[in-house]
Amino acid sequence: MEKDLKNYEAWFLTGSQHLYGEDTLKKVSSNSQEIVNELKNSLHIPVTIVYKPVLTTPDSITKILQEANNSKNCVGIITWMHTFSPAKMWINGLKVLNKPIVHLHTQYNRDIPWSSIDMDYMNLNQSAHGGREYGYILSRMRRNRKVVVGHWKNEEIHKKLATWMRAAVAWYDWQAMKIARIGDNMREVAVTEGDKVEAELKFGYSVNGYGVGDIVEAINLVSGNRIKDQVELLASEYKLSPSLEEGGNKRNNLIEAARIELGMRDFLEAGNFKAFTTTFEDLHGLKQLPGHAVQRLMAEGYGFGAEGDWKTAALVRAMKVMSTGLEGGTSFMEDYTYHMDPAGMKVLGAHMLEVCPSIAEGKSSMEVHELGIGDKDDPIRLVFDVAMGQGINVSIMDMGDRFRMLINPCQVVQADEPLPNLPVARVVWMPEPDLSTAAEAWIHAGGAHHTGFSMAVTSEMMEDFAEIADIEALFIDKDTIIREFKKEIRWNDLYYHLAGGLKK
Ligand code: MN
Repeated sequence: MEKDLKNYEAWFLTGSQHLYGEDTLKKVSSNSQEIVNELKNSLHIPVTIVYKPVLTTPDSITKILQEANNSKNCVGIITWMHTFSPAKMWINGLKVLNKPIVHLHTQYNRDIPWSSIDMDYMNLNQSAHGGREYGYILSRMRRNRKVVVGHWKNEEIHKKLATWMRAAVAWYDWQAMKIARIGDNMREVAVTEGDKVEAELKFGYSVNGYGVGDIVEAINLVSGNRIKDQVELLASEYKLSPSLEEGGNKRNNLIEAARIELGMRDFLEAGNFKAFTTTFEDLHGLKQLPGHAVQRLMAEGYGFGAEGDWKTAALVRAMKVMSTGLEGGTSFMEDYTYHMDPAGMKVLGAHMLEVCPSIAEGKSSMEVHELGIGDKDDPIRLVFDVAMGQGINVSIMDMGDRFRMLINPCQVVQADEPLPNLPVARVVWMPEPDLSTAAEAWIHAGGAHHTGFSMAVTSEMMEDFAEIADIEALFIDKDTIIREFKKEIRWNDLYYHLAGGLKK
């Protein structure tokens, strides 16, 4: 995965018209360039902002939006109506545009110069009605977009734009993304399944199945020298359990795990995959369940879902991309077990093995423990705790007629006591608004037990992402009231049924 998002571009488009004359348009253009420079210099803005000439005719608008579609690096357009830009001019361009839109509803001058204001000033600062004309046509076309209102020098505005840009890059990354489903689904499990054809139509990524034998083949091709180097690297990076040290009775498990990691990475790189799934029910030819291999691949940026969960694999990848460069990690996660003491109800999140060390606090230890299921050699895994702070759990389900995203912020807290006998990476959190309301709402919404968990991604990023993807988004947070939430689900059923119609 890339270290930053500067290879991606957001194009800055300014709407105006010829009514005001050349002098005014020159002013519009220089104002617009000044805003672009401000955004370019903002520490919050993650992508490259590209200035485009002021748009004053239907043809120029259509042309630039077609160019945005075809541009390899453009992830979306920032639109600003400096002056009044009659919105019929935008119709044909918007009809063909297939990239995300943010409507920056700002004005060049922040304050009204009360004592000196005249009609010349008014003509140069008329976003107040220019933006409404543009908003009308987008609404009439039922076009999803983010609207950001405020002065362009305000840091909060930069942050909102940055949030949208992160969502737009993650969306861009999903287009034509390849997901390897290694083995199939965990038998009889419902929520990890879904319509892969519909997902490709809706989201742009493809999910295709591979036999475990394909992975085994790649693993068997790994040379002894590479394995030796890899074992050394693991030993230098993590605190090894004594049995994994040289001469330890589980040393061979570590060597085998290193081989599995190298082979899996070779396979994923050769196929240009960005996300993958595994299932412990199909491990033919593998000596152990890939534990640390999955953990380390996730830390490199691969999306992952266990038990064939390709929707969560895609989601984890998107959350990793959108949080590029931000503090805090992102992982595949599962609501594992509850602490139901009414004095402080919380969730312990973990998985059998596959939690991403990007969320680890301090140095991880590399351990080997028996795994009760799967009937294989004891797998190697990284064990760690997670620092306290704000987190979020997100889930995407296939509801049969649509995809639903569920978003629930949480506070990551310390475990009440140390967990010396729990040999997996784990997180303890208190969901918003509280566990009983959150779990009740989550279950009414049909939320999965698997999630994308992040300490860098925000609700607003997911909201922007869901808008771009044009899917249902349900929020469980401080404002959630169960009675209202149930109504929202029922109303959404009706809305999506009608809005989908024959053409999804
Ligand atoms: Mn699971």
